[in-house]
Amino acid sequence: MMVATTIRESDEILDSNSEDRSSQGSSVSQDQKSVPSSSDLDNTDAVIKGPEPKITDEVDAKKAPSPKPPTPKQRTKEDTTDGIAKLKMDEEEEEEVPKRRPRSQKKIMTDEQINTALKEMSSPGNAQDKYDIQKKLGAGASGMVCMAKCKESEEVVAIKMMDLNNQPKKELIITEIEVMKLYRHENIVNFLDCYYIDNDQLWVVMEYLDGGALTDVVTETIMKEGQIAAVCRECLKALQFLHNRDIIHRDIKSDNVLLGMIGAVKLTDFGFCAQLSAEKGKRDTMVGTPYWMAPEVVSRKQYGNKVDIWSLGIMIIEMLEGEPPYLNEIPLKAIYRIATKGKPDIKDEHKLSTELRDFIHKCLEVNVDARASAAELLEHPLLAKAMPLATLRPLIAAARNAIGKS
Ligand code: ATP
Ligand code: MG
Repeated sequence: MMVATTIRESDEILDSNSEDRSSQGSSVSQDQKSVPSSSDLDNTDAVIKGPEPKITDEVDAKKAPSPKPPTPKQRTKEDTTDGIAKLKMDEEEEEEVPKRRPRSQKKIMTDEQINTALKEMSSPGNAQDKYDIQKKLGAGASGMVCMAKCKESEEVVAIKMMDLNNQPKKELIITEIEVMKLYRHENIVNFLDCYYIDNDQLWVVMEYLDGGALTDVVTETIMKEGQIAAVCRECLKALQFLHNRDIIHRDIKSDNVLLGMIGAVKLTDFGFCAQLSAEKGKRDTMVGTPYWMAPEVVSRKQYGNKVDIWSLGIMIIEMLEGEPPYLNEIPLKAIYRIATKGKPDIKDEHKLSTELRDFIHKCLEVNVDARASAAELLEHPLLAKAMPLATLRPLIAAARNAIGKS
């Protein structure tokens, strides 16, 4: 399976392919000149909104993660504590200067502040005394994931072990934990606990899903339409739940759908989640994994929760064809194709049922307003054809066999 590249909010490509990284990096920095993106020190809600160019800020923030003196504009606003003077400033700002979101302090969180926040989120006690680590399940950008057993309850869990000293994006961890802690749902990998260890490690304990990622199933087996429908329905329940709470996942793809042998289908990886602001309900930063990105994201337009629906459409292509469109292209070219091609071609489309074809088209609709919402898709006739979730089990077993996992 090809390793898909992920673009973080700083527009970095976290890929071992240096060629990809350099080509991508240069292109995105060009984009930044015309369209602002948020700083890499921000993830959930600290985005500087509106058309204010923030290139200098971003570059500075990358070089020096410590708080830097505010620019004259910021200072004027922040320093004006007097009520009348502040009112005046606000009036002026409405006309001339795009407003900063009030919680933008988060943007300049120092390492120390982040560590304090993580410590506060954590449970007391020593995790190493509480859990027996059993085996490594895999490794991601932020660390290793292991299967472990709680000594007291015998519960089997998954523990994501993150090295805090080697973490380019600690804010993403805060987001991930906040989202997992706050939003519990049967189709979301549930957070159980987290521990701050020796000042340099964070262990996030979550429920263990024994079927692995959907990626193994899509790459190794052929799914039936009824199984695809069942997976879509489960993911849509999670998306409807998140979208109703103004949360966009922003990284929907088969790698982030974990399966349980008894039929659980759950979304994971909440590091990129964004909480939409109440006033605007739109974001304008490029986040996610290029091949699954919606056209409005790659074109760096403002976007909302429908980006997750587009990515779900791409994930259906993965379930049909084993991989997303343009995976053999470098990320930069894939981004270009997404932006220019619109709805991707679907192999042997005529062989699909009318329901599935219609469902895919409702997800992969370039026009965001015409694209279906999670709630609408949950009413779609395709879902009436969903097979029982237990039918995923042989697929998981076959995929495991094929890739030699126990
Ligand atoms: P990132 O750090 O960007 O999230 P990633 O998604 O590749 O990178 P992780 O989320 O750390 O990596 O997951 C690493 C591996 O562990 C993946 O293969 C995933 O399938 C597996 N895994 C993660 N969470 C669980 C879980 N709760 N139960 C079972 N396996 C899991
Ligand atoms: Mg992950």
